[in-house]
Amino acid sequence: MKLNSNYYILIPYLVAMIIICQGCIQWAARAKDKLPEETALDRSYSYDGKVIIIGAGAAGMAAAKVFEQNNIDYTILEATNRYGGRLKKDTTLADFPIDVGAEWLHSAPITLNVLKGKKGSDIDEELISYNLNHTATWDGKNYKINPKWENNFRYNFMPESKFKNSTWYDFVDQHLGSSVKHKIQFNTLVTAIDYSGDKVVITTEGGHTYKADKVIVTVSLGVLKSKSISFYPELDKEKRGAIESVDFLTGFKLIMKFSEKFYPDAISCEVNDGEKVYYDIAFRKESHSNILGVLCRGAQAEKYYALNSEQEIIDSLLQELDLIFDGKATSSFQGEYILEDWGHHAFTLGTWTQAIMEKQSQLNNLNRPLDNKVYFAGEINDVYQQMGVPGAILSGYHMADKVLAEK
Ligand SMILES: Cc1cc2nc3c(=O)[nH]c(=O)nc-3n(C[C@H](O)[C@H](O)[C@H](O)COP(=O)(O)OP(=O)(O)OC[C@H]3O[C@@H](n4cnc5c(N)ncnc54)[C@H](O)[C@@H]3O)c2cc1C
Repeated sequence: MKLNSNYYILIPYLVAMIIICQGCIQWAARAKDKLPEETALDRSYSYDGKVIIIGAGAAGMAAAKVFEQNNIDYTILEATNRYGGRLKKDTTLADFPIDVGAEWLHSAPITLNVLKGKKGSDIDEELISYNLNHTATWDGKNYKINPKWENNFRYNFMPESKFKNSTWYDFVDQHLGSSVKHKIQFNTLVTAIDYSGDKVVITTEGGHTYKADKVIVTVSLGVLKSKSISFYPELDKEKRGAIESVDFLTGFKLIMKFSEKFYPDAISCEVNDGEKVYYDIAFRKESHSNILGVLCRGAQAEKYYALNSEQEIIDSLLQELDLIFDGKATSSFQGEYILEDWGHHAFTLGTWTQAIMEKQSQLNNLNRPLDNKVYFAGEINDVYQQMGVPGAILSGYHMADKVLAEK
């Protein structure tokens, strides 16, 4: 075939597209390939020291499950009156359980088996493929419906899923929480960790102290950044530098109930700094409820925080939707909503991190234990390049293995 000379200009772009597409396909496979073949759940250990875990989120409870399985003497100290951390579910707003925190499974479904220690590739959980049909973008003035190929491209790049009739909270509750909850001491806010002696001494808000041979800290990066826990000796320059350097954006999730579904599956808002997306939370759920979510992070969230009240935040978002959908948002809003402000939650102070986006040297610094006595686990300490909840759980198993293996 003879090409017109104008077409030759396109060749570098086509080659770039092919390379990018190959990268995309590999990206999805990459995360699956990074999953460990076995975790600490598959091994047995003996250790006669005492271990304390700080934080009863996914990472803390995963580490605890390993200790529970091996009859290790351990306790979990949790600042709040509940477990789950950034996992939370609501059963009041809709006719299906809603994830108020983590919602999507960004990794391949087989990851769920690895997380619960099940062999084989049969998945027990009923999942929804998050392959959206109707999406749009909004730049504040123009509303543009995205072509179907773009939705497919996104899904192929990152084939996400969601739980159909359950939540991330349920998964973690069933596979971790149920076996370790009896070891959680609630309403116990850790304020200091002294690892200068043979034993690690932990001080809590009321001045109570606990002693342990080893400690796993699983609080969020936001809590570490806030310095609300003091370390003695102080964290070295590299460790503190890594904590400061990794972004942990502020943000909130707003969940609103409408009498009518006037919106598409998702609308991504074009913003300069941060992130804002409207999305149909009931997408492919067995539901008659019309539930729209708003995820807003970073500088975008700051704009809403500058308003005077929750009501003003909601009014402002409804006004924006009214502009796009001809007043339908205000007329069909049922006045019921959940606004979970993870950015200002004292024991979270942010939303999420993605270890895969960070420099390896900083991750190494974050993962480095202190004198083989104080270990760090949590989503940012994930060495298997998964994200969010899977990363947090795998980091818990990984650090439990380190604690028990490095005697
Ligand atoms: C809005 C939102 C949406 C998200 N969406 C997804 C998603 O779709 N998919 C996904 O995989 N991930 C998602 N994530 C991220 C996911 O929730 C986290 O990666 C994961 O839950 C982190 O678990 P963790 O155990 O590392 O930390 P956390 O869940 O933060 O647990 C830390 C625990 O430590 C406790 N704590 C804090 N300070 C102290 C202290 N001083 N003393 C004692 N206890 C303390 C806290 O109360 C908490 O229970 C989302 C997060 C948010 C906020």
